[in-house]
Amino acid sequence: MQFPQKHSVTGTNIFSVMSGLAMQHGAINLSQGFPDFPIDSQLADFLGEGAYGSFNQYAPMHGLPMLRQAIADDFKRRYNVVLDVEQEITITPGATYGIYTAFSTLLQAGDEAILLEPSYDSYIPNIEMNGAKAVPVALVAPDFHVDWNKVRDAITQRTKALILNTPHNPTGAMWTRKDWDTLAEIVRDTDIVILSDEVYEQLVFDGEKHYSVLEHEELRQRSFVLFSFGKVFNNTGWKMGYCIAPPAYTKAFRSIHQFLSFTVNTPAQYALASHINSGLASDVRATMEGKRNYFLKLMADTAFTIHKPSKGSYFQVASYERISDMGDMDFTRWLTIEHGVATIPVSAFYHNKKDDKLIRFCFAKKEETLEKAVELLKKL
Ligand code: PMP
Ligand code: GLN
Repeated sequence: MQFPQKHSVTGTNIFSVMSGLAMQHGAINLSQGFPDFPIDSQLADFLGEGAYGSFNQYAPMHGLPMLRQAIADDFKRRYNVVLDVEQEITITPGATYGIYTAFSTLLQAGDEAILLEPSYDSYIPNIEMNGAKAVPVALVAPDFHVDWNKVRDAITQRTKALILNTPHNPTGAMWTRKDWDTLAEIVRDTDIVILSDEVYEQLVFDGEKHYSVLEHEELRQRSFVLFSFGKVFNNTGWKMGYCIAPPAYTKAFRSIHQFLSFTVNTPAQYALASHINSGLASDVRATMEGKRNYFLKLMADTAFTIHKPSKGSYFQVASYERISDMGDMDFTRWLTIEHGVATIPVSAFYHNKKDDKLIRFCFAKKEETLEKAVELLKKL
């Protein structure tokens, strides 16, 4: 059987590859972005409560009302942003699904979509699976800021969408208010739609503020905004998220969503709503900042170079220029197999596998895991 080629990426995604290699060689896994510590026990209790109670059948297509209301209340509280519970919020089975569905809502053959690299690995295949052309624009190291002239140059008559991610995976960079204003100015006289991937919105450090596109009145009117509960509540395996978009955009999004997954895990929706509403969820931001600080402190005794501390997310990028001149793919394989620590090569986040000898560490781990890993890294 010859299956059609739906996208240009060959082979298995890097997260599965590196987690598989870590498992095979018994390495400490700082590669794929997931925590190795328990979730808040209250959240687990609420999941049980939902399952033992009456939350086991299909939820409404766009999400349980109590979860959409909890999200709206939360955004009012944290961003002073008012959301229409009925017309602007759709619960999705994770953000990856939300991103795909937004692209699917928007794109058709002949369209182009701009993305900023390094980028999360699903963007390019998702654009291509919907018949459009992915147009990558490189961010500028070492702080991975946007080169706005390059974005301007990448726009054509066919540009339909631009996807961005802040706080950023893999680099931990964050957009400033000025970035949003510049984007607004660039797209003002076009029909370009923004996909804003804000899955790490609550994990920001050093007192920095995450600017959501929802706070930018002008851009908000042309944006799909994608969120993931997995990152915020350390339960990535639940695969729960949501999409916020203006009513007309949401209507179109739901017309696709109703024929993709239709609805999302009901007891998990109940649990998340109850957890948010309790006001007693543990402080994920402070916990993650503590982990980043601890990881940076430990890494200071290794030969890795950290050019910029992560401002947000689960991730820290480091250079191994003082350790080896291997390519980053070979280096991460060697590090996993020979030294027992799995990481992600940053070249995997570029369409052309651009290799700057950088690797990504996930610090969303127990202190003990970080200590054991850095003990091994110190020998290099
Ligand atoms: N976007 C980015 C930037 C991510 O790092 C991730 C990682 N999981 C996702 C989207 C997807 O989130 P989810 O697990 O909810 O699909
Ligand atoms: N977002 C996570 C990461 O970047 C994992 C996503 C995945 O496994 N597909 O590591």
